[in-house]
Amino acid sequence: MRVFFALWPGPAIARRLHKEGERAHVTTGGRRMRRDTLHLTLAFIGDMPRERLDALLACADKVAFTPFALALDRIAAWRHNHIVWAGASVQPPELESLVSQLNAVLADAGFPVEPRKFSAHVTLLRNARGELPASEIAPPIEWPVHAFALIESDRAQDGAHYAVLKSWPAAGASGR
Ligand code: ATP
Ligand code: MG
Repeated sequence: MRVFFALWPGPAIARRLHKEGERAHVTTGGRRMRRDTLHLTLAFIGDMPRERLDALLACADKVAFTPFALALDRIAAWRHNHIVWAGASVQPPELESLVSQLNAVLADAGFPVEPRKFSAHVTLLRNARGELPASEIAPPIEWPVHAFALIESDRAQDGAHYAVLKSWPAAGASGR
């Protein structure tokens, strides 16, 4: 199975992100991510044997975090992989903590962890071409984060399909 941990936006946030993708698409072309697939990857595990799932769930059980707000306030393109993404110019400490805790428990359990510095982004377009000067999202998209999730990725011809396997609420949050 192919899995990763992510923040999954509610429909209102996803709608606004999708709209930003539409705007950028006019300039860059490329393939728009479907609205219901938009997410922010926290830790990518990749392909692993299904027998490892319990160990992976146990990792996430050890992570503690409090709810926080993530202000997605800019849109930009990466040339190297032709992605257009939405991101936050300020990465909240709670988000940094969530990612570093995940990486620590994953490494302890022998799962692969990303050596590169975490860069919070929501991919909006793939195979984007042409110039896209970084620009502001105004007003910023205020994303209230009160859970993180383990996602299974099923890559198909028409793009990946994702299923939420389990979600972990922040301390004091209802899990939604
Ligand atoms: P596809 O690979 O079919 O184009 P996808 O990239 O959305 O679709 P996955 O490759 O399963 O699907 O990736 C799931 C998520 O993890 C995506 O957000 C992707 O950007 C991210 N991801 C994929 N590979 C890595 C990696 N090596 N390091 C960090 N994040 C990754
Ligand atoms: Mg991929």
